[in-house]
This record gives sequence, structure tokens and C-alpha cells, in this order.
Amino acid sequence: MCRHLAYLGPPVPLSALLSDPPHGLAHQAWAPRDMRGGGTINADGFGVGWFPPGSDQPDRYRSAMPIWGSSWSLRVESGAILAAVRSATVGMPILETAAAPFLAGRWLFSHNGVVRGFPGTLAGMAGELPVEDLLTLEAPTDSAALFALVRHRLRAGKTVEEAVASVITETLDAAPGSRLNLLLTDGERIIASTVGHSLSVRVTGDAVLVASEPLDDHPAWEAVPDRRLLIATPHDVTHLTLGEA
Ligand code: GLN
Repeated sequence: MCRHLAYLGPPVPLSALLSDPPHGLAHQAWAPRDMRGGGTINADGFGVGWFPPGSDQPDRYRSAMPIWGSSWSLRVESGAILAAVRSATVGMPILETAAAPFLAGRWLFSHNGVVRGFPGTLAGMAGELPVEDLLTLEAPTDSAALFALVRHRLRAGKTVEEAVASVITETLDAAPGSRLNLLLTDGERIIASTVGHSLSVRVTGDAVLVASEPLDDHPAWEAVPDRRLLIATPHDVTHLTLGEA
């Protein structure tokens, strides 16, 4: 179990998502409320990626430390943010480079869940990756491998919806029982899946916030049902049913 979130809207300080709300990401790290699939705390690292105002390239800070032991700047402000706290799957290393967000070009990526039987079950799908992608995998984890597959399919010309949905469908075929809550943003859209873990979305005026758990008791929070692919902008949220996406 990890916890993750993504925000698009008017610029806010990172603290508005991480530490200020009563159940912000820093609180979710040690007191999560909806722990499907086990895990107690998210102490194996954290990361945050954000688009500086006016830029289409994200900046990123990651640490292998728990979020409460890391030094992150409260003064950064951004209108496009993705952040995650990690609880490493048993057998996967605790490294800075294994903490989300993973980054390629404009895309920030996070995975909450597990690929059952990794790495063996992904061997077939990994065959499509150029050897450079395997050699430069950020970390030897299921999440990094899933991002390599999504990134490769984006490069091959698939839309982000097609890339994410096809990786999820094929991973579930190869590794049944996997939990695949994926979360991406390119600073303009948020793409989020629900396969086995919780997710909620809050749309307020000109901002959208997608998070593993609601950050506060705002009445606009809505739980996203399982097996959905959500595509969100500050003004519009679309749900596709996975399998039909
Ligand atoms: N399996 C991933 C990892 O180990 C994600 C973990 C999680 O969601 N708890 O990094």
C-alpha cells in the first residue's frame, strides 16, 4: 500500500496537499484509513513532482526517508502536482529511485499496488522494451517496470488512455490478482486507475484533486469505484470502465 495524489488548478504551496490538511499526504503516510491488501504505514520513501508556473517540464524531489523525516520545501507553489508516499512491497528495495513519482519528459507517474509474481510474470511484456529501457530502469521494482511499459507505448504513438489501459489489462492477464492503481499527469490532465486500491476525486471550481484517500471532510469528495480509468482536468472528469477503455 502506498498513498498518492495529483492536483491541477490554481497554484498552491506543496504544503496545501502534503501537510496542511487534516488528512494530507504526510498524515496518510502514518495513519492511512483504507488499507486494502495489507500494510500499516508508508515509511519507505516519498516523492513529489511539480510543474513550476509557466513550465511544461516538471521538477521533482524524492527521498528514501519517510515524509516526516525528509526536508522538503514548503515554499514551492505549483498548479500541477503529483506526490506519493511509499510502503515497499516485500522483497522490493528501499531506494530513493524506487519512490514515485517516476519521470519521463512531461510525465509524472506513480503506482499504488503490486504486480503478483514480479518479475517473472512481466517477462513476456518486458520483451517489447528496447534494451536501453531495461538498462536504465530507475529501480528494480514492479512500479518502475510498469512505467517503462507505459512510456514505451506512449513513444510508440498510443494515447495515454490506450497506453495505461493496455498495460493494466495485459498485466492482469499475466499476473492475476495484481493491484494496479496508476496515477499520471503531464501538467494538463490527470490519468488515474482503480484496480484493487482506494481512490477519491474532488472537483471544486477550477481545481481537481485525485487522492488515495480524501484529504479533508470537504463534501465534494467522491469515491471512485474499482476498475475505472479516470481522466481529469480542472474542469472535467471522465470515468471509463477498464476493459472498455
Ligand atoms: N509495489 C510498489 C513498490 O514496492 C508499490 C508499493 C505500494 O503500493 N505499496 O514500490
